[in-house]
Amino acid sequence: MVNIVKSSNLGYPRIGEKREWKKALEQFWAGKLEKDVFLKQIEEIRLQHLQKQKDQGIDLIPVGDFSLYDHVLDTAVMFGLVPKRFEYGGGTVSLETYFDIARGTKDAVASEMTKWFNTNYHYIVPELDGVVPTLVENRPLQFYKEAKQKLDIEGKPVILGPVTFVKLSKGYSESEFKAVVNQFVPLYADILRELQKEGVEWVQIDEPILSTSISKEEVALFNDIYQTLHDAAPDVKVILQTYFDSIEHYEDVISLPVQGIGLDFVHDSGQNLAALKKYGFPKDKVLAAGVIDGRNIWRANLDDRFSILEEIEEIVSKDHLIVQPSSSLLHVPVTVKNEETLDEILTGALAFTDEKLHEIVVLTKGLQEGKEAIRTEIATSVQAIEVLNQSSVRNNIEVQEAISNLHTYKAERQVPFTVRQELQTKVFQLPLLPTTTIGSFPQTQEVRKQRLNWRKGELSDAQYEEYIKAEIKKWIDIQEDLGLDVFVHGEFERTDMVEYFGEKLAGFQFTKFGWVQSYGSRCVKPPLIYGDVAYIEPMTVAETVYAQSLTTKAVKGMLTGPITILNWSFVRDDISRYDVANQIALALRKEVATLEANGIRMIQVDEPAIREGLPLKRENWESYLNAAVYAFKLATTSVRNDTQIHTHMCYSDFEEIIDAIKALDADVISIETSRSHGELIHAFEENTYDKGIGLGVYDIHSPRVPKLEELVRNIDRALQVLDKRLFWINPDCGLKTRGINETVEALKVMVEAAKQTREKLKVLSR
Ligand code: GLN
Ligand code: ZN
Repeated sequence: MVNIVKSSNLGYPRIGEKREWKKALEQFWAGKLEKDVFLKQIEEIRLQHLQKQKDQGIDLIPVGDFSLYDHVLDTAVMFGLVPKRFEYGGGTVSLETYFDIARGTKDAVASEMTKWFNTNYHYIVPELDGVVPTLVENRPLQFYKEAKQKLDIEGKPVILGPVTFVKLSKGYSESEFKAVVNQFVPLYADILRELQKEGVEWVQIDEPILSTSISKEEVALFNDIYQTLHDAAPDVKVILQTYFDSIEHYEDVISLPVQGIGLDFVHDSGQNLAALKKYGFPKDKVLAAGVIDGRNIWRANLDDRFSILEEIEEIVSKDHLIVQPSSSLLHVPVTVKNEETLDEILTGALAFTDEKLHEIVVLTKGLQEGKEAIRTEIATSVQAIEVLNQSSVRNNIEVQEAISNLHTYKAERQVPFTVRQELQTKVFQLPLLPTTTIGSFPQTQEVRKQRLNWRKGELSDAQYEEYIKAEIKKWIDIQEDLGLDVFVHGEFERTDMVEYFGEKLAGFQFTKFGWVQSYGSRCVKPPLIYGDVAYIEPMTVAETVYAQSLTTKAVKGMLTGPITILNWSFVRDDISRYDVANQIALALRKEVATLEANGIRMIQVDEPAIREGLPLKRENWESYLNAAVYAFKLATTSVRNDTQIHTHMCYSDFEEIIDAIKALDADVISIETSRSHGELIHAFEENTYDKGIGLGVYDIHSPRVPKLEELVRNIDRALQVLDKRLFWINPDCGLKTRGINETVEALKVMVEAAKQTREKLKVLSR
């Protein structure tokens, strides 16, 4: 075993400092880069990342964590798991097929993608139905050899573990689970055997599923599997890696037949440390301690982190301790180094990947040589955080007082829905099955170009405003022509539904290169919520009021909800996330009041991110959902009884959170359903919904114009379980990614489907 504390990393972001990876991928997809040139560029990026980690002084450098799209897909193709529709003849999966699975072809739809645990990273869901896994290439081995040959790095291969892999896959029934996992075990054994032959010392096997609410029996399954793997390659030291929360069944997990256990000591609500103290840790195992936050961008308080390590060290001896981030650093940007335009106080308190690796090295040194050896680094980190904490940019007394006096705000509508409904019916005079859209209309090249020119100063504020107004007018006219019942202004002034509000509220800043991978080559740049969030001035009123002035139909005001803004940002960690959510909610409450005071009588507050923020463990759901519901109601309930609050969510698997959705007490909700219409309708068979509801009747994620019969059928199905007096007809999400023509054509069909259904209902009721 090792004789001294080691530093380690769990995964390095793929995208590159300036998204070089993304650019190479997209050029290759566009046919602008030859395959060999592309592969060469990618290799350079991959090696550069390894070299960087080596230069930092990381002892255990992960290899095989790099990906051309997604690590779950990598694992699937390593086992030859290619869905039938991609016509694969066996053997190593070609680069072309790999991208086809991820992106689809004109004849075969892409594999589904979904969120990686509670992050905003999306993985490709492996399809196991009917395909027998075989090991067609040993990826970890290849990357291990590459690092060794090219950079003289003794890498630590990273592998997604069999239980988590199968859990994340689809195409088998629950009763088959164990048998399916067991199909993979011999293949994992082969991988390890080959790694052993190559002389690999450490392997990281990721089993984050251990940090979710899994059963004791499932943990028992791990025992057999990992014993088999150990027997296959007894010289390889396996670190069973968990992250994103504390592990369930601590005592069982630490007894598994592996040589190391990786625990998250940041996102565990203190439970991993508590369990460690209570139950101890086996003397013959290594503890890989995730003490640096792999999910957020703040500089660590090294004093505090070092004390945790000291507490751990009382239980685990130095030569059995590894210092590392709490999870892969995939979820944070690459480096703070290029952020020259940010507030200096803020920059001082940031740490992205490279800076976090440095923190790990420092902490490791502290453990090796004593705290004194890292005194300066500790002092600097504490100081930088303190400066930010004390600074006026972080503190707004008025907001802080409001948060301490939240009880003085009423977060309930004045009367129940049924009473509101009656009043609203009188005011709005809508037909049965009213038609509307979700908010955005196509953001054409032209719209984006005008915004860019305005940002560059080539277009004056007045000119840009005129341009946006013209777009709004154009689309109000289109909506009149289409005969929609409730209008929207189209969101032409917004690039992104969170960024737009972040730029207008106090407490947010935007980085230049703070990108993280969301899915495939798509990266997002989450805003930083670094200070108290405060309302400055109206954010959406001018555009909405202008749109309303052009029509007698109701125009919905469009806001992004507090939980979505929270979940899609990097949030300060010096106060509770819920306080931040409530600060945002209070700011939105002012916007809601201002919209209402200016004659806007329908206000939609989008919360597409509520579901993804659900904690990994069921026991924590209630407090999260309560907080989410409270923040939403704080933002929305101050309105008059006859002002109609809408909300929108874009996912369909919300059966589990339906009670929270009801508790939002929105007058109307619109949700995405078209890709899983059947399943959602089924959810309502068991559990009906008694407020206004629009189940998206067509899928906006594809340019295809839906057929009238399809929409009529979707509506009919929904009306079998939902009250026709509560049902709305709308597409399943915003239309900003669609082209103009296809949007207009699809909406024509939608309006026609509504008309036909109304006629049919009239006949039936006679
Ligand atoms: N109102 C937003 C839009 O239409 C909602 C987007 C979303 O749900 N993600 O674009
Ligand atoms: Zn949506």
